Amino acid sequence: MTTVAFIGLGNMGGPMAANLVKAGFSVQAFDLSQAALAQLAEVGGTVMSTAREAAQGADFVVSMLPAGKHVAATYLGEQGIASVISPDALVIDCSTIDAATARKVGAELAAQGIAFIDAPVSGGVAGAKAGTLTFIVGGDEAHFERARLVLSAMGKNLFHAGDIGAGQVAKICNNMLLSILMAGTSEALQLGIDNGLDPKVLSEIMLKSSGRNWTLELYNPCPGVMDNVPSSNGYQGGFMVDLMAKDLSLATETALGSGSSTPMGSLARSLYVQHQRQGHGKEDFSGIFQAFAKKN
Ligand code: NAD
Repeated sequence: MTTVAFIGLGNMGGPMAANLVKAGFSVQAFDLSQAALAQLAEVGGTVMSTAREAAQGADFVVSMLPAGKHVAATYLGEQGIASVISPDALVIDCSTIDAATARKVGAELAAQGIAFIDAPVSGGVAGAKAGTLTFIVGGDEAHFERARLVLSAMGKNLFHAGDIGAGQVAKICNNMLLSILMAGTSEALQLGIDNGLDPKVLSEIMLKSSGRNWTLELYNPCPGVMDNVPSSNGYQGGFMVDLMAKDLSLATETALGSGSSTPMGSLARSLYVQHQRQGHGKEDFSGIFQAFAKKN
């Protein structure tokens, strides 16, 4: 039986690890949260008391952690798992982090003969639960091919973007565009509402016109337009403003590093950081609509 060590069982990692168990992998998992561990144990995962224990003897190590500092500490820190990972194992970091940290972790593992790819995901919590995530991989082509076994149990679309770090760059390009589309769709809908339009009708019109985009198709930010989306559930669940603000900061850092001009991305970052500072950090990112809505 193929053994997968899974580190980080949050909103995304929990259901991803559960899908690996369902696909027949032996999953030995670790998270700082006892509640997250208990949930995975319920569906058949093996709970370990440290990340090092989880990594021992695993054929694959998968991590799904909040940010670069958590990933660096998990692999390279004092209690890091790099020294206990088998040289035959493949390490797959699915967290969204800065490309520089991905490259550093990849290089330090490579120095010990351990293979590493960065494989951030798109598709959100719903995609993680349904096993339909998109994985955007950076790393060696052969390692990408080897990862298919594990990734295809958690996702549907697998892309190889380039060398280590390329997965992270592609992911933040996508999320920067998504944030711009979400903010733009919100302001267009509110403009229509302020001028007497029904947001449902306006959404249908734009969906069949040149303003069509993913947020109108699947994730309308205006409450009441669509069922089963965060906007119709008090902006609960989904993809947190805190995480979008993090991704936009990563996009800004990347743009500074490459001298790229990203005025729309910079504006979207400011909007999301402002929204976060106003206490909406734990709400879904479509809640940026509230920044445009007229308060009664
Ligand atoms: P989350 O905060 O729900 O989960 C993170 C988990 O990591 C928590 O359970 C936490 O206890 C655990 N953790 C933190 N430090 C740890 C450590 N040192 N050892 C073990 N466990 C540790 O976050 P999430 O929504 O699952 O997101 C995880 C990553 O996926 C982030 O990088 C995020 O940007 C990315 N992502 C999230 C979504 C989404 O819709 N939520 C979509 C795509 C990508």
